[in-house]
Amino acid sequence: MNKFVIMLAGGRGERMGLSINKILMPVCGKSVIIRSLSAFIPYADKTVIVSRPEDRPAIISEIERNGLSFPFIFADGGPSRQKSVLNGLQSINPDPDDIILIHDAARCLVSGDLIERIIKSAKEYGTGIPGIPAVSTFKVVDSSSFVTSTPKRSTLYEIQTPQGFSSHIIIPASLQASEDGIECTDDAGILEYYNIPVRVILGDTSNIKLTEPGDLIRAQSVLKGDATALRIGMGYDVHRLVPERKLILCGVEIPFELGLLGHSDADVALHALMDAMLGACALGDIGSYFPDTDEQFRGISSVILLQKTAQILNDNGYNLFNADITITAQRPKLLSFIPHMKENIANAVGIPVDRISVKATTTEKLGFEGRMEGISSYAVCTVVEKNCI
Ligand code: MG
Repeated sequence: MNKFVIMLAGGRGERMGLSINKILMPVCGKSVIIRSLSAFIPYADKTVIVSRPEDRPAIISEIERNGLSFPFIFADGGPSRQKSVLNGLQSINPDPDDIILIHDAARCLVSGDLIERIIKSAKEYGTGIPGIPAVSTFKVVDSSSFVTSTPKRSTLYEIQTPQGFSSHIIIPASLQASEDGIECTDDAGILEYYNIPVRVILGDTSNIKLTEPGDLIRAQSVLKGDATALRIGMGYDVHRLVPERKLILCGVEIPFELGLLGHSDADVALHALMDAMLGACALGDIGSYFPDTDEQFRGISSVILLQKTAQILNDNGYNLFNADITITAQRPKLLSFIPHMKENIANAVGIPVDRISVKATTTEKLGFEGRMEGISSYAVCTVVEKNCI
C-alpha cells in the first residue's frame, strides 16, 4: 500500500499583504512550503506539489537549498481548490487501496502524530479528516443578516487538513463531482454530496492555516514553544601546556608561566564553545571550517573564529541562545578573569552576557589537567531557529 500526498501550494499572498505566494514566506527561518513538505517526508511514497507554474522555480530552489530529498512531481493549480486537487489526482496512478493525503501547504505546523492518525483512519475506514470540536456558538445567517438557526454546538467541528482517503473512494468521487459541476470547500465535502461516510478524528489546535498576518504571529508562538525549535550542542577540547606560549582563555590573556600550544591562539574554551555551537546545528566541527593546516589561521585570535562561527550559524538560520562552559585547569586560578571572559563571548556572538556562563574547576591534581600537562574545556549550548527569539 503506497501513500500519496497532494500538497496544495497554489495560494497567493494577498490576504497576508504579500507580493509573493505565502507558501514561500519564512516562518521562524524556514519557508511555509519547506515546513509542510518536511512534515510528510517520513510518510509519503510520492508527493504531488500543486502550484502555479511561475512558482515552481522558487519551490524547487527552496527544496534544494534545504537539502530535502524525496520523490515529488508537480501538477498545475486550477481555478478552484477542487480543480487543483483533481489535477493532482490525475497526475498519479495509485492502486485502489493506496492512501491519498490532501493537504493545504499553508498549514505548515502539521504534526507527524496527526498525519499518522489520519493514515490509520483512512486505512481502517477509507476516510479520515481532522476536526476540532467547536467552542463558540455558531449561527446560520440568511442574506439579510437574520439568524435562521443555531446548530447544536456539540455536533460542530472545525475541519483541517490533511484529509486522508482510500484512492478507490476519493478518485471516482472527484471525477464525478467535476462532471456534475459540484463545488465544495474541502475534499470530504464531495464524498458527503454522494452520501459516502466520512470519519472525523481529533485535529490539532496548533495545525493553523496561515491566512492573515495575525496567523503568522500565532505560528511563531507555536514554534517558540515547540521543543523541536530548540537544539542542544556540546563541545570538548584539550590543548597542551608548554613554556613560552601565551595562556589565552575566552579571549583573556592570563599571566602564567605556561601557555597553550596550538595552531591558533589555542583558546581551548572558545574551541569547545564553537564545536558546541556547530554541533547543535549539525554543521560539522571547527576543524572543517578553520583547519590547522591553513596558514591564515596561524596565531589567529579565537575570538575572531567565534565571530565567524556565530555568522555560520546565522547564515544557516540559527541563533545561539545560551552557553555554559567549564574550564578544567589545576592552575592558575581563573575566578577573577571570568567576568571579562563572559563579556568577550557575549560581544563576539552578539547575545546578552546573562546568557553566557563560564566556570573553572580543578581535577584535584588527578589526570593530565592535574599534572598541568594540559587544560581541557567542555561547552554546552542551545541554539534556536532564527526569528524565534
Ligand atoms: Mg582546539
